[in-house]
Amino acid sequence: MPVNVFFAAGPEHWPDYRIPLQNALAATGVDAVLADRAEDPAAVDYIVYSPGGIIADFTPFTRCKAVLNLWAGVEKIVGNATLTQPLCRMVDPAMTESMVEWVVGHALRHHLGMDRDIRSPAPHWDQISPPIARERPVAMLGMGALGQACAQALAALNFPVTGWSRTAKEVPGIPCLHGEAGLEAVLRQAQIVVTLLPRTAETENLLDARRLGWLPRGAFIINPGRGPLIDDDALLAALDAGQIAHATLDVFRVEPLPPDHSFWAHSGVTVTPHVAASTKPVTAAGVVAENIRRAEAGEPLLYLVDRARGY
Ligand code: NDP
Repeated sequence: MPVNVFFAAGPEHWPDYRIPLQNALAATGVDAVLADRAEDPAAVDYIVYSPGGIIADFTPFTRCKAVLNLWAGVEKIVGNATLTQPLCRMVDPAMTESMVEWVVGHALRHHLGMDRDIRSPAPHWDQISPPIARERPVAMLGMGALGQACAQALAALNFPVTGWSRTAKEVPGIPCLHGEAGLEAVLRQAQIVVTLLPRTAETENLLDARRLGWLPRGAFIINPGRGPLIDDDALLAALDAGQIAHATLDVFRVEPLPPDHSFWAHSGVTVTPHVAASTKPVTAAGVVAENIRRAEAGEPLLYLVDRARGY
């Protein structure tokens, strides 16, 4: 009997995903029927999901073996009490590439002081040479799929990168710390901080006034993780005081960022509209199909979310 795969990620995504998913499922050899509606929820074997998708109540999906999220972040679904099925998040190689490019680009902008030349009215001839990368320590908060890839790309350019995560980690070429003492140590020496943590109860306001104060004066912040990782008011105060030189923010507590939010007008803030890294249908379809193949073969699922941990 074929397995029924229900694409519940929303009608706007269906045209982009239908053919990649059909191709990827066919390539795995799994006999699957893919549909964007489920007449009989009890007959669905797998749900392809994204926040803003069309399911709020997972209770009727009694046969469902896994919910496969198209996004890396799961904060909008992980707390859903009706979701009892295994939940997998997305680790998409093309999305990782995008994130690496976005993070490295914004890090180099700040490192090289590009704004001076782009924004200064002509004529200007201030010969301020930036340090070389090996003199610019970077803190990578979050050393998961995306944090590790970004850390390694920055380290390849000779930035001294230190990683920080919840649990102890060994990553080739990147010293890694964890815990509160580790956070203080990593922040105290960082001139650029990149936040690639998930949104959980523990990471909410991780960068508050006290911890922003640990950074060397004039540090740069790059946040493609989630808005609530940083206390907005504390960040604005630190920017006004010169403690933080600039913050490049891709994610916000409320998205789209409301037009009257102070971030828009602040000269020390660059707002990008949650574009650091989107899931790419062809590669993501391969990940979804591989997880369905694994589940059918009785193999462990990839990128399984730990509900208690929240990511
Ligand atoms: P992973 O789950 O692979 O990695 C998460 C990392 O965060 C892990 O290193 C984990 O530690 C660490 N972490 C979690 N909680 C804590 C904590 N309380 N204290 C310290 N470290 C913690 O996620 P990804 O790398 O795939 O993605 C990271 C986030 O990036 C996503 O959750 C999402 O919010 C964001 N994102 C943003 C995008 C954008 O376009 N702006 C696109 C895609 C993702 P440990 O290793 O010990 O478990």
